[in-house]
Amino acid sequence: MYNHDNIFAKIIRGEIPCQMIYQNDHALSFFDINPIAKIHALVVPKGEYIGITDFLEQATLEEKNSLLSAISETIRQLNLASTGYRVISNCGFNGGQEVSHLHFHILGGEKLNSLK
Ligand code: AMP
Repeated sequence: MYNHDNIFAKIIRGEIPCQMIYQNDHALSFFDINPIAKIHALVVPKGEYIGITDFLEQATLEEKNSLLSAISETIRQLNLASTGYRVISNCGFNGGQEVSHLHFHILGGEKLNSLK
């Protein structure tokens, strides 16, 4: 069950502030409050989705396009394309997801540690 009181839902509703980078009709990006890389942004759909699976099953094509566009546009605005970056979505308990609203971390601005 989606929890309407999660922190990203509050950011999307404008109830708490964020350092916004980009938004379109269905998605929003902003800087992570606790960065783990020199550049650390988050991209979220504005709709109420917990993870990739419910997003894939329930989101409209427009929402899906908007989310991918927001990821791409955020990467462009942060000038990460030429130097490289990493996109991560932590899903569920084993994935270490702390905020139960679908989000993609965009990490860059420095050489990132290997995942292996
Ligand atoms: P995850 O562990 O994948 O669920 O990541 C949640 C992320 O949300 C963490 O990197 C937090 O630092 C970040 N975060 C939590 N609260 C805020 C906030 N108010 N504004 C921006 N980022 C936040």
